[in-house]
Amino acid sequence: MCADHVFPRHMRVDYPVIASGDGPWLFDVDGKKYLDGCGGAAVSCLGHSPKRVIDAVKDQLDKISYAHTSFFTSEPAERLADKLIELAPDNMERVYFVSGGSEATESAIKLARQYFLEIGQPDRKHIIARKQSYHGNTLGALSAGGNMWRKAQFEPLLVPSMVHIDPCHYWRFGLDGESEVDYGLRMANQLEEMILQLGTKNVAAFIAEPIVGATMGAVPPAEGYYDRIQAICQRHGVLLIMDEVMVGCGRTGKYFASEHYNIKPDMICIAKGIAAGVQPLAAMICSGEIYASIKKGSGFFQHGHTYLGHPAACAAGLAVLEEIETKQLLPRVVELGELLEAALHKKFGQHPFVGDIRGKGLFWGLELVEDRQTKIPFDPKLGIAMQAKKAAFERGLMIYPMGGTVDGKSGDHILLAPPFIYENEHIDLLVDLLAIALDDVFGDRLGSK
Ligand code: PLP
Repeated sequence: MCADHVFPRHMRVDYPVIASGDGPWLFDVDGKKYLDGCGGAAVSCLGHSPKRVIDAVKDQLDKISYAHTSFFTSEPAERLADKLIELAPDNMERVYFVSGGSEATESAIKLARQYFLEIGQPDRKHIIARKQSYHGNTLGALSAGGNMWRKAQFEPLLVPSMVHIDPCHYWRFGLDGESEVDYGLRMANQLEEMILQLGTKNVAAFIAEPIVGATMGAVPPAEGYYDRIQAICQRHGVLLIMDEVMVGCGRTGKYFASEHYNIKPDMICIAKGIAAGVQPLAAMICSGEIYASIKKGSGFFQHGHTYLGHPAACAAGLAVLEEIETKQLLPRVVELGELLEAALHKKFGQHPFVGDIRGKGLFWGLELVEDRQTKIPFDPKLGIAMQAKKAAFERGLMIYPMGGTVDGKSGDHILLAPPFIYENEHIDLLVDLLAIALDDVFGDRLGSK
């Protein structure tokens, strides 16, 4: 069936051809079924047959399929923006709809820069981000990200005004005898040190994922970290951008993950679950103050893409929100999350090669290590994370593993982000299949432990 012209993700992998989906299941053309344990990349929050969303897109396409935003706004975009602003922190006022997470973070970074130009602070050009973060693959977003594996070969093309402080991962990097709170403060204080080093009038924004996803494997912040980060940003007039591309849209049990940590950002980026994968949609949400400053100044954000505010994508986003509300899915995420947490601890709490289990809601990470006591990672040459993905896929389970967890080179983790529409028994099935897959990977080693 396949001709040889698609440029695939990886050229040495033979991908099965997808045929259909139903709830948490995907089926390939040979009839093999796969339990979705990761939403692809934390995308398919409503599973694979969300009728309400699919119908909403069809209805919208029957009315108007596309209208360029330099000529028109659309009803779905206006209504979805109203809803998102209702849900967002109080100071948020405007929603800029794009088509993917990288476009959302690029938009936020550019808006930060333009905001400072408009209010007469043209020296503010630096963006501070964190090592081991991920903000997307376009050059600006990649410059902001801090994952060496993704960046190294493109370094000559990246933006030098973006700089990085250390990540916040207490289990991995906390010092012996250091409390979580002390560690969190020490890491947050790095932001202030960096601002002082660059010059307090030269920094535009700090961007971070509230819970770090793809690059570290569902790592929540240390207690107190974001209180201090927020205070530092306020003290120095630095904008706070929360990249909730992976953890927003209900994934952690609240619509915005920032809510868990009482963060009041100046901008929030969301994507992935916003349209449940039925349409490509993402958004950059900004504060009233930023919007008003630009309105008063040039009146024009010097940015834009062809598919901004696509009506069919926004119709999907609206239907996803309706589904979350009518089916009470946020409390369900919390409930399922507790079941998943308990099941993971029961099955892997003493596993010789699982060093840490962390996460929130339906967003969980397992860090795989060669030695639980010393936390020493596996030799990166073994590609343990990818072995786990392959083994799980063969067993009919989709998980989202990644290597380079520690420093972009060594370390392995598995990310789990199942759909919100799981039944309880799917949690057990997910954990059982994962255990079998890890046995496949570690078989011989388990015997020697
Ligand atoms: N930001 C975060 C936190 C992400 O996890 C991702 C993708 O995984 C992105 C940005 C980029 O999103 P996209 O792949 O839709 O461009």
